Amino acid sequence: MRIERFDIHQVHLPLSYPWRTGYGADDVVESLLIKAYAPDAEAWVETCPLGAPTYSPETAGGAALMIRDILGPLAVDRELESPATVRTLFAPFRGNSFAKAGVECCWWALEAVRQGVPLRRLFSGKDADVVVRDGFGVQDSVDMLLAKIQGSMAQGHTQIKLKICPGWDLDVLSAVRSEFPEFAFQIDCNGSYSLGDIATLRAFDSFKLEMIEQPLYYRDLADHATLQKQIRTPVCLDESITCLQDAEQALRLQSCRIVNIKIGRVGGIGPALAIHDACQDAGISCWVGGMMESGLGSAMSAEFATLPNCSLPNGIPVSTKFHPEDVVDPPLAFSRPGHIAPAAGPYLGRRVLEDVIEAVTIGKWTVAASGAT
Ligand SMILES: [Mg+2]
Repeated sequence: MRIERFDIHQVHLPLSYPWRTGYGADDVVESLLIKAYAPDAEAWVETCPLGAPTYSPETAGGAALMIRDILGPLAVDRELESPATVRTLFAPFRGNSFAKAGVECCWWALEAVRQGVPLRRLFSGKDADVVVRDGFGVQDSVDMLLAKIQGSMAQGHTQIKLKICPGWDLDVLSAVRSEFPEFAFQIDCNGSYSLGDIATLRAFDSFKLEMIEQPLYYRDLADHATLQKQIRTPVCLDESITCLQDAEQALRLQSCRIVNIKIGRVGGIGPALAIHDACQDAGISCWVGGMMESGLGSAMSAEFATLPNCSLPNGIPVSTKFHPEDVVDPPLAFSRPGHIAPAAGPYLGRRVLEDVIEAVTIGKWTVAASGAT
């Protein structure tokens, strides 16, 4: 495959309501939408590191320049036999997983378009609907959270994730558990605790949670291993797993019992597949997480979530969860309560609405054989 050109769009996706976590509040999601051109195919991909380096050290603006100045010029107008060729080209560069994913995913997207098959056919995903769960950030009040959980249960969701942070933790979970004694909840701390908070972390065990996601520092593996030995609830790692090597170390250290996979966070579909397989071999279940990205990125996540070891409810939202207007048609919607159908046509089975993308674009660059502009 020869990719002739990348058009990089830095976009502002307005959210339907502010999303509050241990990091702070977001009312807009900053993302990168990239259109890749091969001689016989065109395809869009998304990589979404957010606007500020709160979730990871990367930002959408920084990743755009990384692709424009370093990764894009290396990959453009060169024979790329496989996605591994792309990763070999990028091997000298440390970090920058979201930027690397933005280019690596273009190979997969173009190949799916060329073959006229859903993306999951390229990595033996299954055809069954993907199970998804709902999730809620920090709310203005516990009553507001309880009402939202009730609404989510009425929609047919069977599992809900709650963002938890110091000041929004034990009292909230006590109220939630007394109102919904048997429902399946998981929590995500986004790295907002330390082993110094062991009393609180141990107390989470009493709420019968499905998992505690990323309780400790975003780059930590060792303290998570210490914590997992001291609590019954499975630890799930998100931010700490940025590449296959991180996952392999986490498995060796027994830092977690569950892994959240995000294609962007780990550098592309190839590394995500390697992590999926390594976890499967170790008996560690996975699920696919989201970045509040557009339906383009979420549809790619849904294709990945058809893999057999993505066996826990996935954090893939329908389009209306966050975005008043989506960039794909049809938008992501429930096929039945708590489920999303994988693509019914080539690649993601969706038309990309380029006029909508243009309307939310705040920066645009092109990388072609003739140079970057
Ligand atoms: Mg998370």
